[in-house]
Amino acid sequence: MKYDHILIRYAELSLKGKNRKQFEQKLERNIREVLKGFEAIKVKRSFGRMFVKLNGEEETAVCQKLQTVFGIHSLSPSIKIALSEKEISEGALWAAEDALPSGRGTFKVSVRRTNKDFPIGSQEMNKVIGGHILRNMNEISVDVHNPDVELKVEIRSEAAYISSKVLKGAGGLPVGTSGKVLLMLSGGIDSPVAGYLALKRGVTLEAIHFHSPPFTNERAKQKVEDLVKVLTQFGGTIKLHMVPFTDVQTLIHKQVPDNYEMTVTRRFMLRIAEKIAKVNHAKAIVNGESLGQVASQTLDSMYTINSVTNLPVLRPLITMDKLEVIEQARKIGTYEISILPYEDCCTIFLPAESKTKPDKDKAERYESFLNLEEIIDDAVNRTTSHEFTASADEESEINELF
Ligand code: ATP
Ligand code: MG
Repeated sequence: MKYDHILIRYAELSLKGKNRKQFEQKLERNIREVLKGFEAIKVKRSFGRMFVKLNGEEETAVCQKLQTVFGIHSLSPSIKIALSEKEISEGALWAAEDALPSGRGTFKVSVRRTNKDFPIGSQEMNKVIGGHILRNMNEISVDVHNPDVELKVEIRSEAAYISSKVLKGAGGLPVGTSGKVLLMLSGGIDSPVAGYLALKRGVTLEAIHFHSPPFTNERAKQKVEDLVKVLTQFGGTIKLHMVPFTDVQTLIHKQVPDNYEMTVTRRFMLRIAEKIAKVNHAKAIVNGESLGQVASQTLDSMYTINSVTNLPVLRPLITMDKLEVIEQARKIGTYEISILPYEDCCTIFLPAESKTKPDKDKAERYESFLNLEEIIDDAVNRTTSHEFTASADEESEINELF
């Protein structure tokens, strides 16, 4: 015998009616997409579960890919067994022997019977299966509270599925069920993590990056593209908008007093992001800000910067400490890319001192000497966009997600 299926559990309780259908359809599509490199597998949806038939593909590799899919609560390598008491007992014995190769240890059987036509109730089946295992493995005993192995047996209408371990899924909602957002992606540590967390809530992601050649070089651009590629492992296809920002920054540098340069720069970024968001039907902007982390991330700063747009600005990292963000960045595989030392457009020109409490009226007054519309339109018109899709054979750089 051999584990021939992966049983996938997803959050079913909170979902009703139309939402549920959409959730399941997207989840199934995202699962197929992430497994497209495994040609033999088959994906099937069946009453509150999904099943991946391995057809000889490697169980561990398939599970690893599935663990990147948002909307999956947990998964279990399973064996599919015909609906007979004898065959189910044999299958469970095999799974117990497989999980306890020394033949020693404790176990528990948990039968879940959704097929009410199956003649034996779940309590009774627990006993039947447990008895069979006890008779065939001498040095094994039952422990219902803290067993070494829990054998899960699902008796469904088409077959029974037996598994001995549960792997944690990525949780969240399937990508594509929550509308589209535009991620402000720098080359730093924070914004890729913000993008990951936004994807976790089921959004479709596009990203925008401001670059200032020749002050920022090609490698800084490459770095951002590499970060997008990592995010595609969780989000499928992601469009990246590259905004040429040199002229805007040069102009601000000339016209705006040093201590308001950062604030005004951020306000321009947000205005441009808003335009790009609207053209691409994104309903919100996401950034990597965390309260109080740096001068531009005080509440006063956020107020003054945020006031240029009516679009919701989502900040998934708002309550997180830097160390927590770094830990998350390591897990998803963006950290090593983010710490590469290429100059970001925000670090050029910037004075040592920025106001931590920038005043909105003052920012507006300084901006009144600039031709806002023209500057913004020019940057938007020269923006280039490129789509990235997760490639099936790309070596996963995700480090032990769970
Ligand atoms: P990060 O680690 O994401 O760079 P940070 O802690 O360095 O964040 P800031 O430099 O103040 O913080 O940037 C705050 C947020 O503004 C970033 O998280 C990102 O969302 C956005 N941002 C900053 N620079 C850029 C850029 N060049 N292109 C796009 N977005 C940017
Ligand atoms: Mg930064």
